[in-house]
Amino acid sequence: MNIAIVGGGAAGLMAAAAVQEARPNLGVSLIERNPELGKKVVISGGGRCNVTTGATPLGAVLESYPRGRAFIEYAMRRFPPQAVVAWFEAHGVPLKTEEDLRVFPQSDEGRSVVRVFEKLFQSSNSNVRVLLRTHVTGVKKSGRGFALSVRDGESIEADRLVLTTGGQAYRMTGSTGDGYAFAESLGHTVTALAPSLNSFFTAETWPKELSGLSIVRARLRAADGKKSYEGPFLFTHRGVSGPAVFALSALVAFETYDALHPLMISIDLSPAERLDALAGRLANLSRTNGKKNLKTVLGFALPKALAGVLVRAVGADGDMQAAQATKKLLTACAAWMKAIPLSVVGRGAGDEFVTAGGVETAEVNPRTMESRITPGLFFAGEILNVDGFTGGFNLQSSWATGRLAGESAATG
Ligand SMILES: Cc1cc2nc3c(=O)[nH]c(=O)nc-3n(C[C@H](O)[C@H](O)[C@H](O)COP(=O)(O)OP(=O)(O)OC[C@H]3O[C@@H](n4cnc5c(N)ncnc54)[C@H](O)[C@@H]3O)c2cc1C
Repeated sequence: MNIAIVGGGAAGLMAAAAVQEARPNLGVSLIERNPELGKKVVISGGGRCNVTTGATPLGAVLESYPRGRAFIEYAMRRFPPQAVVAWFEAHGVPLKTEEDLRVFPQSDEGRSVVRVFEKLFQSSNSNVRVLLRTHVTGVKKSGRGFALSVRDGESIEADRLVLTTGGQAYRMTGSTGDGYAFAESLGHTVTALAPSLNSFFTAETWPKELSGLSIVRARLRAADGKKSYEGPFLFTHRGVSGPAVFALSALVAFETYDALHPLMISIDLSPAERLDALAGRLANLSRTNGKKNLKTVLGFALPKALAGVLVRAVGADGDMQAAQATKKLLTACAAWMKAIPLSVVGRGAGDEFVTAGGVETAEVNPRTMESRITPGLFFAGEILNVDGFTGGFNLQSSWATGRLAGESAATG
């Protein structure tokens, strides 16, 4: 028996390694269109590769997947973040967990992660044949297995096929969404697709004045109030960005918005404090600093640069003496701080990190990653309708589903 794995990214690399570990004698063709393996892994995490997350327990980790949470649970229990860390460390890549629980190679070098696999496949007892610069253009069933057509090359036959072609974000890395058509040609449904983990452009221009200002903790909410996320974010020259924005973008990935139909969001700068408590705090600050001007005093409760935006937003005179600020005015200030309104008119181009949507997970067995429609066909990684927030979750699910697909293809 032989196995073809199409796509030498995170999921494909781990699938091939899993086959090699489970059944070293089995022949594997790992097919990658690029001249090198793991291009996206190398550039991930700003070139440092945020390999996985240090968050625990697994239930909390699964909360970070807006789509595919239940589907990946089995794969994630078999190969959870701690096991991923142990696996890479056992293969010679010491890792470190940063304060925000993102896990990186101690070397801060994404390339060291891919090197693990290159070494594994180059070892003398490896039966993984790495086919670089090999662009698969179509797949079909043939006899008991599959036939893969290759651009400018001979077709490849395989008994089992693992599709790990990724999503279609950052297409210059080679992940152009080819696998969706392959999956459809083998009878699968591909859901609607949308970019996720992007920054937001806003109609309001004032964020530009604060460009670079980061807020450690805020709750960002979409207008319906149901979708929200608490975490750090920052203002940019065109709107807002950072982890909480990326997470909210994932939650609203399938909503359409533009200049004519903006997506209204709000930012709560003080999520742990009720409105009346915050208003009371502002009143205290104004009383005890009564001779200072209002803008300065508000600057004790929120970043100074934002205090200027706040007084403008509530139509107050920032130069007035704080002692003169009425309760009504201070309550309006508190209300603004609890729900700063922004109209999102676009996604930050090019910085989307994953594709939301993909191969319909109901058609794939979560305990094996095998197709329920075409036996012998397996899926893993971002090609599936699975996506996570930033913080190592997308690579984590790719390692976990890749490992399970490889083991199942090798042994099932
Ligand atoms: C800039 C950026 C930074 C990121 N940072 C992080 C991070 O720090 N942590 C994190 O968890 N996630 C991060 N992600 C997301 C994460 O990298 C992906 O979700 C993950 O790599 C998906 O793995 P995959 O194996 O499914 O697909 P990919 O890594 O996209 O691999 C798919 C492979 O298939 C190949 N391929 C596609 N079509 C064909 C074909 N027809 N023939 C042959 N080969 C083909 C492609 O060339 C590619 O190498 C980042 C993404 C981007 C774009």
